[in-house]
Amino acid sequence: MEIFHMQDIVSLLGLPMPSGRSSYYIQCPCCDESPRKKHLNINLKKEVFRCPRCGVSGGIFDLYALYTGVPRDKVKKDLAERLGAPEIITQRKKKVIPEEKEECPLADIALRNDAYKALLSKLSLAADHRENLLGRGLKEADIERLGYKTTPVIGMSAIARQLQSEGVGLAGVPGFYRDKNGAWTFIHEKRGILIPVRDRFRRIQGLQIRRDNASRRKFRWVSSTEMEDGCRAEGWTHLAGKVRSTILLTEGPMKADVIHALTGLTVLAVPGVNSLTQLAMVLEDLRSVGVIEIKTAFDMDFATNHHVQNGYNSLLQFLGNMGFTFGTYLWDPRYKGLDDYVWACFARMQSQ
Ligand SMILES: [Zn+2]
Repeated sequence: MEIFHMQDIVSLLGLPMPSGRSSYYIQCPCCDESPRKKHLNINLKKEVFRCPRCGVSGGIFDLYALYTGVPRDKVKKDLAERLGAPEIITQRKKKVIPEEKEECPLADIALRNDAYKALLSKLSLAADHRENLLGRGLKEADIERLGYKTTPVIGMSAIARQLQSEGVGLAGVPGFYRDKNGAWTFIHEKRGILIPVRDRFRRIQGLQIRRDNASRRKFRWVSSTEMEDGCRAEGWTHLAGKVRSTILLTEGPMKADVIHALTGLTVLAVPGVNSLTQLAMVLEDLRSVGVIEIKTAFDMDFATNHHVQNGYNSLLQFLGNMGFTFGTYLWDPRYKGLDDYVWACFARMQSQ
């Protein structure tokens, strides 16, 4: 009698098995067209596999059947013959492992952009949110162009179902996950304004929410981490405006959009000065398309906030190391942010 485990089948089938990992993703034989797509989750510990994208799943003999084409009820016989063993069984688990949620690997930018664009096209912007945005200096046309919307409060499953029927892929798109019935749905968040966070091709990388009436952590990423087939958001940067030799650097995509709308300057928003990983990649890319100078325009309380001081200093050092010319935008310190200051100047000009 031969006891079989998932890793035995995986190696027998010649599938990848990264060392030191009990759960990992490989190309799904059913739905991934290219080897760069990896939706099939193999879990060595739980001895199961599953693709959140197309739904194919099972235990170790199902995996064998899937790859060899041997009918499921003939798998044990086939294996026994192949290995010259009289009988093949799997080891029963003694303990039931508490169900941990499987997350999806992040979908690539093209898929995320498609999903978010389709989602936003089904949402609207509430009157109070429109007022809020107009009050910051954005015009109706800016709001339209930027695609800001109000978070859906109900009907998330219906929207997800509609998106799916239109052929929009939701697996690996932060914010989407499966409910307990296995149907796709969208994260239920506090009401607020959804802000598309875009790359230099204006593709939506992720969404942030500006939450209504939140005193702390007003801006949050739309994320479905720790949900079934959910997905974590990364700290993406946001570019407002065309690539130019000089760009401004600030914190927060909404602030960047407002500064750009008011001044025409190109603004890159970072999620925070303490998250430089994404920024390094993006700046590398922007440098290759002609950006040479960076002016930081963080809120005035930045320089005095001890918590962020270290992050800010290492950011400047980092810009210097990358070979950028850099400087700091200064404005009337009575205004916290450059967006507030510019908007106040505009308002003053208009009233004269
Ligand atoms: Zn699949």
